[in-house]
Amino acid sequence: MQDDLIALLDRFAAIGATPDKGVCRLTGSPEDGAARQLFAQIAAARGASLSTDAVGNMFATFATAPGAQSTILCGSHLDSQPTGGRFDGSLGVLAALEAASALYAEGGRYAHNLTVVNWTNEEGARFQPSLTGSSVFTGKYTAEFALGLRDRLGVSMGEALAQIGYLGDGALGLTPVHNVELHVEQGGHLDETGVQIGAVTASWGVRKLTLSFVGAPSHTGPTAMAKRRDAMRAAALAITEFHAQMEAEPGQLHWSAAKIVAEPDSPNVVASRVTVYFEIRNPDQRICTEAGDRFMAAITPAIAALGCAIEIATDEARPGTQLSPEGVALTLEVAAELGLSATDMLTITGHDALALAAVMPSTLVFVPSVGGLSHSPQELTLPEDLRNGGAVIREMLRRLAS
Ligand SMILES: [Zn+2]
Repeated sequence: MQDDLIALLDRFAAIGATPDKGVCRLTGSPEDGAARQLFAQIAAARGASLSTDAVGNMFATFATAPGAQSTILCGSHLDSQPTGGRFDGSLGVLAALEAASALYAEGGRYAHNLTVVNWTNEEGARFQPSLTGSSVFTGKYTAEFALGLRDRLGVSMGEALAQIGYLGDGALGLTPVHNVELHVEQGGHLDETGVQIGAVTASWGVRKLTLSFVGAPSHTGPTAMAKRRDAMRAAALAITEFHAQMEAEPGQLHWSAAKIVAEPDSPNVVASRVTVYFEIRNPDQRICTEAGDRFMAAITPAIAALGCAIEIATDEARPGTQLSPEGVALTLEVAAELGLSATDMLTITGHDALALAAVMPSTLVFVPSVGGLSHSPQELTLPEDLRNGGAVIREMLRRLAS
């Protein structure tokens, strides 16, 4: 007998569970390995054939159209942030698994197969950039690039995946004709408005600017203050200026300086290199670009005055991505037929469905997050909303496969 979606979510939430009821399943960790194994086990037991590609993306195909070369992709990610919630990513994979396996078990014949996917390193918590597996799948990144990404201890993603046994050599082997992803909203729009289903039309633009402030190492005791080239001081100045600049911007900007890496990372050596990860988001990509440019112009002379240099480690612009208009229409139609309230909306956050939109019609469906909280152990989607999302995905897969 099949677990229902809620029971399945509970089983996965136990893998990498944190004491505060959150989840920590970083890419390539033993917990990621355990979640992958359980996913593979359940999918195989329900009749799927499995393959894992060169960067660890997992494909579980239910042969709803034996002999056909086409498939519908449906999935999300099983990796999490260090302070992850239990539904972010897992819901999309497990709702897809429930829906696809149920349609397969019914024995109906369809025009397309159904492939449930677990994309590698969606979160980008351990290895940056994020959306890694789906972006390799679309050809945006090469597998070599992705496998060579290193965490802060110097372990590469390739080494980490090999360690848990998920450095595969398989390929999907089918031609995907549409991609669908169910995800918790990670924002408060649906929760605040009391709407049950979100049909995502497009994403906000984002500029990700990773800057290294470069000074020189010296003893924190004897080195004369005037002779120091303190990269940590430069980073502190830049972060303060960043917040001041973004606050002064007109319009709807969301921003953060959320990660910092100091070298040599010793309390009694003046920091020689400090890398800070800045992000700027707005519905309009040009506004992100311009705000980032103004920030760079503002800090450049001030950092130089501290005797430090700025190296641009990455400067990535991700313009707002358009999702499939047919997928939006289908989401709204299915929700209405199931008696659920639904709305079209934008997404602020990045998702695998956005990466996949570069190469195929891609659809992203949201269910509410209570309080809009995510990347937090307190992230919560109510059971009724989880079931609604699962029902919508199942009906969408039925129609897309037909
Ligand atoms: Zn996610």
